[in-house]
Amino acid sequence: MALTDLEKGLIAAMEEFEIIDCHEHLGPEKRRTDTTVDVFTLFSHYTRGDLSVAGMSEQVYQSLFNQDIPLERRWQLFAPFWEQIRWGSYARAALLAAQKFYNVDDINDKTYQSLSAAMKKMNVPGIYEQVLRKTCNIRTALTQCGSTELGSPLLTPVMPMVYDLETWHAVSQPGLAPAANIRSVDDYLDAVRNYVVRVKSEGAVGLKMMSNPYAAPSREQAISAFERLHSGTESRLPVPNPLRDYIVDETIAFASKQDLVIAVHTGYWGDFRTLDPLHTIPILQRHPNARFDIYHLGYPWMREAIMLGKGFANVWLNLCWTHIISQRFVMIALDEAIDVIPMNKLLAFGGDYGLPVEKVYGHLVMAREDVARVLARRIQDNQMTESQALTLAHKWFWDNPKALYRLEF
Ligand SMILES: [Zn+2]
Repeated sequence: MALTDLEKGLIAAMEEFEIIDCHEHLGPEKRRTDTTVDVFTLFSHYTRGDLSVAGMSEQVYQSLFNQDIPLERRWQLFAPFWEQIRWGSYARAALLAAQKFYNVDDINDKTYQSLSAAMKKMNVPGIYEQVLRKTCNIRTALTQCGSTELGSPLLTPVMPMVYDLETWHAVSQPGLAPAANIRSVDDYLDAVRNYVVRVKSEGAVGLKMMSNPYAAPSREQAISAFERLHSGTESRLPVPNPLRDYIVDETIAFASKQDLVIAVHTGYWGDFRTLDPLHTIPILQRHPNARFDIYHLGYPWMREAIMLGKGFANVWLNLCWTHIISQRFVMIALDEAIDVIPMNKLLAFGGDYGLPVEKVYGHLVMAREDVARVLARRIQDNQMTESQALTLAHKWFWDNPKALYRLEF
C-alpha cells in the first residue's frame, strides 16, 4: 500500500534527524575506493545468500567480480538469477541505492552499463561523506571490520570478541594478541584483558559475540581442557567447549567493567538453531551490570528476543539488519515491542553492510518507512500525537544508541 500523507510527513520529519547507525561492517573508506566497482558491487553482500539459494553456483558468483570477464558476459550470467531475487528485501535496498545515487529507475538489461559507469565515477574519496553524512544524516556508524584504524569520526569501532579456542594452534596464538606467550589459562586471560584495554583506548565502544549455547563457566574444567590441548591428549575440544565458555564469561565480565557494550548476534545465519536468542539468558543473569545490545531481533525468534527486552534491565534490542530481512516482520515486531518494552531500550537502525556503502541509504529508507507505518497507526488510533510519535522515533534513532554506547559528541 502506498504511503499515506501522515506516514510521508513522519518520514520527512525523521529525515531531518541526525542519527546513529547502530551496526555496519564498513572498513576505512580507502578499502572501498581502492576496489574496482560496477553493478555487482551492489550484490557483494547479503544478496549473495539469495543468489545461492536461487541456484547460482559459487563459481558463477565469484566470476561476477572477475574484472577480466567482460561486464556484458557477467550480466548474462547474473540476469536470470536477478529475476528470482529482485522482490526480496535485500534486493530492495540495492534498487533504492541505484535510484538515489546513480539515476536509474531499475537494475536491468538497459541500465546495468550506465549504472556501472556512474558507480565508478562516484567511487572516489568523499563517498562516505556523501552517502553517510550528507544523504543519510548519520553522525557516526558503529562498525565491525576487525580494526580500530578507521580514519574518520564517521566510523566508530566495535571489535570482535575472539573465542576461537578449539585447537592448541588457536589457543597458543590468539588472534587478539599474536605476540602473547600462552602457557596457562591465566596467560590467555591476560591476553584478553590487554586486548580489551587496547581496543578501548583506540576508540572501540563494544565487543561482539554470538548467541551460541554456552555451558556454565567452570575454571577447573577450563584448566583441564587447556591442559588436554597443551599436552596433545586432545587435538580439538568438543562443543560445548569448557575453555571457550569460561574465557567468554570472563571476557564479558572484564569488558563490561571497562564500560564496553556486549553486542550479541542472535538468530538468522547458517544453522540458526545454534543462534537462538534464548541462549543468552544465563549470560544475562550472570552479568546484571553489563549492557547487552541484542542484534537482529533474533529473527525468526522475534518474540523470544522481545521477551529478553521485557525481562532483563541489561538488554537493549537493536533493529540492525532487520528491515532488509523483512519489512513485514519488523513492523509486526516493532509494534509489539511498543506494547511490551520500555522505549529507552530500542535501537532503530543499522545497515549491516561492508563494501556497498550506498545500500546503507537503501536500508535506511526502508527503516524509516517501517517506523512511520507503525507510528502512524498509533496516531490514527488516537494512542499518541504526531509529536509524541516523533519523540519516540528520535529516541530509537539517536538518544538510545547514544546513551547505550556512551557516545559523546
Ligand atoms: Zn553484521
